[in-house]
Parts: sequence; structure tokens; C-alpha cells
Amino acid sequence: MRSIYRFVAHRLRRIPGSGPIYLAICTREDCHEDSGPSMDQVSVNDWAVKHCGTTEHDLFIRIVSTDYVRVHRD
Ligand SMILES: [Zn+2]
Repeated sequence: MRSIYRFVAHRLRRIPGSGPIYLAICTREDCHEDSGPSMDQVSVNDWAVKHCGTTEHDLFIRIVSTDYVRVHRD
């Protein structure tokens, strides 16, 4: 049986006016847990404090993004 593959081009388009999304990521080489994305900065900060309290991992990358993109087929 012979298969035919068809490739469809996709593009990412930015959605303007999106609100900020926060994310904290633990930098420990053996961990890299993250808070999960949230629009609530306080909950992300609270996650980092709790993570530090339970693991003693105390350095995080905190990302703030206002960039939403949607995938569109060409
Ligand atoms: Zn950690």
C-alpha cells in the first residue's frame, strides 16, 4: 500500500490586546518545575515561595508575556 502525504502550511498570528500572563520556572538543574501560566501574578509569586519552602530551591525565572498567538492554516 502506498501512502500520500499532504502538508498544509500553518502560521502563527499574534492576537493584539492580550493581557499579561505570568510564569515562574525553578532554575535547579534537577527540578525545572513551574507554576503554570496564570494571569494572576500573586498566585505565581506564591507558588515560588511555597516551592522554595518545600524544596529550598530559591532561584526562578519569571516570565511575563503579553503575546498570544493563534495557529492558522494557510
Ligand atoms: Zn525546584
